[in-house]
Parts: sequence; C-alpha cells; structure tokens
Amino acid sequence: MVKSDTKMPETIGIFGGTFDPVHHGHLRSALEVAQQLGLDHIRLIPSASPPHREQPRATAQQRLMMLHLAIKNSSQFVVDDRELHRDGLSYTVDTLLSLREEFVENPLYLIVGTDAFSALQTWHNWRQLIKLSHIVVVSRPGEDLSLPESLEFWYQRHLATEADRDLIAGKIWPVTVTQLAISATAIRESIANNESPEFLLPDAVLRLIEQTGLYQD
Ligand code: ATP
Repeated sequence: MVKSDTKMPETIGIFGGTFDPVHHGHLRSALEVAQQLGLDHIRLIPSASPPHREQPRATAQQRLMMLHLAIKNSSQFVVDDRELHRDGLSYTVDTLLSLREEFVENPLYLIVGTDAFSALQTWHNWRQLIKLSHIVVVSRPGEDLSLPESLEFWYQRHLATEADRDLIAGKIWPVTVTQLAISATAIRESIANNESPEFLLPDAVLRLIEQTGLYQD
C-alpha cells in the first residue's frame, strides 16, 4: 500500500466519566467505538466535580492514577486530566472548548451513552456541544433509543452519513457496542462487602485499590 505524504489530523474520541474506579465496561466500549469509527485515539477524561451526580469516593489523584494503570499497555488510550485543573463544576462544553483550542483541525467525537444523550437538553449550553465536536451515541445491541420529541427531531437532523467523515464536528454517529454489565457502583459495593471484583477491572487497578484500602468502608 502506498502511503500518502499528507498527514491527516488524528481523529480523537472523548470519553468522560468519574472513573471511580475505571473498569472493563468503560474500556471495552470505548475501544469498540474507536474500532467502528476508525478513531486514532480516545482520551479518557476524569471529571473533577460532576454536575449531574454525587461526588466520587476516590480522590481525583487516585482516579487519575487508576486510569494511568488501566491503560499502560494500550496505545489507543490517552489519559487527559484537563478537568482536574479547572475550578468549579465540570461542564462538558468547557472541556470541548479547551480541546478545540488544542486540536484545531482534528475531528473530535464526544462519546455518550443513550441515557446521557436522552437528557442532553439539560446539559449546560447543550446546543454548543455539536458545534465543537461530533456526538457518538452508544447503545447496547437491541436497545431502542427513546428520545423526547424535541430531541428526536434534532437527532434526526444531525444524523451522520459516510460523506460526513471529513467533518471535524457537527454530526451524530450512533454506534452499537457489546456493553458489559459492569458498574463502578457494584465494584465499590463488592469491595465494601469483602467480595473480590477480580476480572471486572484491570488487575493493576485492583492491586492499587487493595494496597490503598480504597472503597473498603
Ligand atoms: P457509577 O456506577 O459510579 O455511576 P459508572 O460505572 O457508571 O459509575 P462512570 O465513570 O460514571 O461509570 O461512567 C463514565 C461513562 O461510562 C458514562 O458515559 C457511562 O455511561 C459509561 N459506562 C459506565 N459503565 C459502562 C459499561 N458497563 N459499559 C459501557 N459504558 C459504560
């Protein structure tokens, strides 16, 4: 195969979460999105102060360390700690603004689950999100996306086609992945109950949790 000399900007996936702790459900679904959309890398962005939920149990530094351990042998992932350097609530739109400043010409793909996407209209400055990046709506096999009427209309209007591959933002890309029924809440609960969460999360992450006594009470 002849390689072109003109280097295309990398396509970047953006996967935010509390990662309290990161587990194989996160990593596997992010990887499948990258494979299906041909993304060059995925940035895992731990949230400092999530606006929509209770605060994490592990500190920001512990969650960051767990992410670094989780991806240390995977070239497709990058840990991005930009939200931990901002004061106040972590709004996704601010994260996208900051990524767009750094990655001016790169196609950006914000990855969200169907639950989060259904509530998109409650997000801070939600209409600006798609001006800054694409949105990837991730569902499980066989899952129906049921949206409020106003959002359904907006969703249909922004649906991507193959011709939109070169755009750096502005489209919605539905993707179906094998979602593993793993949650960070269940992992924290099993640790508190002295049951091993082995095989639900990377070994190196579990070792750190055990060494530090995290989630034990
Ligand atoms: P918690 O149980 O503490 O609420 P969580 O496991 O849902 O945590 P988060 O860090 O809050 O994880 O989630 C980050 C992102 O990962 C969210 O978009 C969420 O929808 C997605 N996610 C969480 N669990 C899975 C899973 N098993 N498969 C695919 N995506 C997941």
